[in-house]
Amino acid sequence: MRGSWLVAMRGRGTVMSVVCLVLLLSGCYAHAKASDNAWHELKGKHFIIAFKSDSVDSSEVLRHAEAYYSSIVKLLGFRRLDNFWLWERRARIKLYASHQEFIRETGAPSWAVAKANFRHRTIEAFGSSALFLESRLPHEMAHLIFREYTGFDGAIPLWLDEGVAQWCERAGSRRPRKPLREWIPLRTLTRMDVHASRDARLVRLFYDEAASLVQFLVEVHGRDRFARFCRQLRDGKTLDGALRFTYPKTLSTMEQLEQQWSAWQLAGGS
Ligand SMILES: [Zn+2]
Repeated sequence: MRGSWLVAMRGRGTVMSVVCLVLLLSGCYAHAKASDNAWHELKGKHFIIAFKSDSVDSSEVLRHAEAYYSSIVKLLGFRRLDNFWLWERRARIKLYASHQEFIRETGAPSWAVAKANFRHRTIEAFGSSALFLESRLPHEMAHLIFREYTGFDGAIPLWLDEGVAQWCERAGSRRPRKPLREWIPLRTLTRMDVHASRDARLVRLFYDEAASLVQFLVEVHGRDRFARFCRQLRDGKTLDGALRFTYPKTLSTMEQLEQQWSAWQLAGGS
């Protein structure tokens, strides 16, 4: 089983910037304090936040996580996941005090900034900075929710997995997106292991294109169909097979999807 590493991409000197989703939760959580080197827990409805440093604002992390949980499930149309992570099924967010500690304790590569373990419903990261709350947290949560819905064994294309996470991460941004003037052909995108690439420009293009494709499928062709499409992949259909089954009249092949998506985004759709 492969987890998900979130990489801090600094393409052309900029970190991927995302504006936070609106925080909807107004419930009060006691602000838990860690006064020693032991792990402490703050428990919410769907999440348990584990931390051992006073520098981690666990109540803010919990508040954001609960808000993202609702908004991501709604955004993707994965209705059966409403109130899914309860009690012993709560997801766990484990926060180390620093990047250094995160790398040392998880064995993650030095470029990784967060790690999601789908099977254990766990996110590991560090700190509670604005960057974490507004960008890394929704990205990793979207990975967990997507895998909760599609399962762990189906042949899910990496671009779809990362596209869902990236689109959810940027969902709160009001900044208009520029159309992609160039893109990776969909069949190539589907074969690509972006996690192994060291080409920053290609990596950025992969994520931008993947997010735009997911946005196109959800916003133009509807949440319910998108959820059905994901279920076909979960049940073992190939990408072509899932497209043919879900969108028989409109996007029945990868070529049709690429052609319609590219026309849509060039016209300013995303
Ligand atoms: Zn990711």
